[in-house]
Amino acid sequence: MHIDIDKDVCIGAGQCALTAPDVFTQDDDGYSTLLPGRADGGDSPLLREAARACPVSAITVSHTVG
Ligand code: SF4
Repeated sequence: MHIDIDKDVCIGAGQCALTAPDVFTQDDDGYSTLLPGRADGGDSPLLREAARACPVSAITVSHTVG
């Protein structure tokens, strides 16, 4: 999995960190960021849920090949 957070779009609502706290966290400014070592989302089943929960669709989850 590959996770993209569009920080130009993110409004710091924090829904992603609430929904998938094992993948997302919030930086000092309140914007979404990935936890260290979680750039690929691990295998968190909450990942897609978090992407859906984002009110501004700032999170893109895509399959990586290979
Ligand atoms: S849910 Fe969306 S808007 Fe809110 S912090 Fe996460 S990426 Fe940003």
